[in-house]
Amino acid sequence: MTSSITLKFFGAAKTVTGSKTLLKFKNNKNSAKVLVDCGLFQGPKKLRELNWKLFPHAEEIDAIILTHAHLDHSGYIPKLVKEGFRGKIYCTPATFELTQIILRDSAHLQEEDAIYANKSKYSRHVPALPLYTVEDAEKSLKYFSCIEQHHWVELCLGLSFQFFRAGHILGSSLAQFSYSEENNIKLLTFSGDLGQDRSEVIKGPDHLTETDILVLESTYGGKTLPKNNIKVSLKNIINDTAKNQGVVLIPAFSIGRTQEILYLIAELERGSLIPILDVYLDGPMSVDATQIYARYPDELKLTELEKGRVPSLTTLRFKIIKTAEESKNLNKKKGPFIVISSAGMLTGGRIMHHLKSRLPFAENALVFIGFQAPETKGRLLIEGLRTIRIHHQEIEVKASVHNLEGMSAHAYSDEMISWLKTMIKLPSKVILNHGEEDSLLALQEKIKRETSIFDVVIADYRQELEL
Ligand SMILES: [Zn+2]
Repeated sequence: MTSSITLKFFGAAKTVTGSKTLLKFKNNKNSAKVLVDCGLFQGPKKLRELNWKLFPHAEEIDAIILTHAHLDHSGYIPKLVKEGFRGKIYCTPATFELTQIILRDSAHLQEEDAIYANKSKYSRHVPALPLYTVEDAEKSLKYFSCIEQHHWVELCLGLSFQFFRAGHILGSSLAQFSYSEENNIKLLTFSGDLGQDRSEVIKGPDHLTETDILVLESTYGGKTLPKNNIKVSLKNIINDTAKNQGVVLIPAFSIGRTQEILYLIAELERGSLIPILDVYLDGPMSVDATQIYARYPDELKLTELEKGRVPSLTTLRFKIIKTAEESKNLNKKKGPFIVISSAGMLTGGRIMHHLKSRLPFAENALVFIGFQAPETKGRLLIEGLRTIRIHHQEIEVKASVHNLEGMSAHAYSDEMISWLKTMIKLPSKVILNHGEEDSLLALQEKIKRETSIFDVVIADYRQELEL
């Protein structure tokens, strides 16, 4: 049976957010339209404005394959449902649990933004409307269908897919499609966000035997794995800050980095390598996500002894901050202590008021543990910015700023090459997405140089590729 597949990139093309790839399948008898990931654009305004564009023919899409919960992969789902999507949304059970908290939070923020825009009259639209509401997010949840990894699901006769473990965050998956082409079975794999085996908390990515075509993310495509010892760096920062009675501020994405850093701090405590300090996890979403992690012990790398116990992801003087008022009260508290709060790239959230009160003092430390996109406050601070504007106020940065490289949930370029090379049959074509242009070019060059794959292309926004 002859069949054809085309891919069209509606996001994460030469950028790291807005992941959305439309896969169109057709054979003599059937056709299907499948969207791999359905993420929000984040970061610079010109990208965020793309979220307001109508997705063409949302009602014709048969299914969404969601690789993982992060907002840049899931955050457009309520809008697509609002625009008429009525198909199934496939993901793993852990991804579904995490996506629920992400979408509710995102909808809440969209509503708050609209209220703020109407109050301050800064919007060109009167009245300003949210991209989607909490009600829209709730409605979209009923289209989810959970499937375990390593189980084939038939989307239509001639097109099936299965998930493999991606090792990026809890529940994260690679999505592999199988379709028949002239009596041959072909495999097309999307890496989603690809993890590595460095995580202390979750298991690393599955090794694939083969794929004919690979759509590969490239967030760290231009970076090789740093040689620093994260545990030693973190230990030194905490000890120095504690000695000076300072506060260690850790901006972290609620899902993924938060659990990794909690585990590392707990490890340092267990080894008596740092003093036992109050560790505040500030943000209801981080708290919920940490509880979800603890519910999936089989996905975790933790030792037998720790399996299934929530305390394995908590420290000895672990404190949960739920309300905004409790969070603000921390500003009055004297160090030493540690605060973990989002947003991870300082794009908003409770971390902002902690920064405002702690950055002007040299005894405090700000520690980055994840990817910082260009133009974000996080990236600018790492690059040496010494005054920062928060809530319309210029804040001087006297606290020390650290970047714990190597803690990212994304594979570095050499790790991607090693992962690729474990395949018995390498792909004949690799399509790169989810990266800034320099990362994409660097990874393209590296794959061509270090493997026998020569057909390596970079996806463009709204580009249609016939496979
Ligand atoms: Zn991700």
